[in-house]
Amino acid sequence: MDILKTAELIEKGDLRHSARVMRSLDDGDPEALEVLKVLYPNTGRAWVLGITGSPGVGKSTLTDVLVTRFREQGKTVGVVAVDPTSPFTGGAILGDRIRMQRHATDDGVFIRSLATRGHFGGLTASTRGVVTVMDAMGKDVILVETVGVGQDEVDVAKMADTTLIVTVPGMGDDIQAIKAGILEVGDIFVVNKMDRPGGEATLSQLENMLMMEREGTRCPGWNPPVVPVSAANNQGLDDLLEAIKGHYDLLHENKAQLMNQRRRERAKMELMDLIQTRAKQVILKRLEAGHRLEDLALSIAKGEKDPYSVCQEVIEAAFSD
Ligand code: GDP
Repeated sequence: MDILKTAELIEKGDLRHSARVMRSLDDGDPEALEVLKVLYPNTGRAWVLGITGSPGVGKSTLTDVLVTRFREQGKTVGVVAVDPTSPFTGGAILGDRIRMQRHATDDGVFIRSLATRGHFGGLTASTRGVVTVMDAMGKDVILVETVGVGQDEVDVAKMADTTLIVTVPGMGDDIQAIKAGILEVGDIFVVNKMDRPGGEATLSQLENMLMMEREGTRCPGWNPPVVPVSAANNQGLDDLLEAIKGHYDLLHENKAQLMNQRRRERAKMELMDLIQTRAKQVILKRLEAGHRLEDLALSIAKGEKDPYSVCQEVIEAAFSD
């Protein structure tokens, strides 16, 4: 791969080379990292919008409608659907997500699904890589859709500039999950399927919860709104877009403070992830090279050594040369 040429083509929006680098990232090809190094300084322009929530709440329906709205505004859009539970790996089309395919012929929209944990430090790192490529391609808005409220999803949500948490009427358990895990990363809460019964109760339940936990929100000066929508019926979208714009404006007006603070936190997390992954890879590679891992495991199993001392020895040896 010609690194510089590839980076240049990606910056011109070339689909084939962009897709190829994303695939190489998944495959753990070190050349893909070289491309990211070249791209990185010219990224940070895209608005990254995270959309998370349990399966079935309507994330992909909502994503689809948002893509249409952003396209109407003349914005180019990238979509990353992160679904570790999906059997689809790294395909360009969202498998069974037929709805999104109506954007497949629009070259202002680039869609990618990500089901693998990748070779460069897990789902979050893979997602970051894909977002970086889309950002470099010049996409104005990048929608990152994640399933569920596990740690991976929280980490993915943290990398967004604006994070939407989606729920639906009558999902008491879901609300508990939101409370437990993801409240502090939500910038906007969306209650979808408002055409169904119980919507008002869910709205006020969420609003009360947020009122009590205001301190915990991550963006000073921003009270996360709760927005009722019905994505399938295209209702409430104006309010949602307004809320998204409100958050965007706030971060931009206070760019020096809020944006930098948020992006610095993100950079810190990214760097820590990368160091952790690379350090582990380097150490394991050394150990595996001489079948040392097996030998050490055997001596621990036999009771000749303890894992704490072995760990210390291995790490000291790795960093002594
Ligand atoms: P995801 O798993 O969160 O991505 O959810 P999907 O977008 O695949 O939607 C799950 C189901 O909910 C689909 O059958 C949608 O048609 C349906 N759905 C999405 N939005 C709405 C809505 O506003 N109202 C109703 N009644 N159904 C919806």
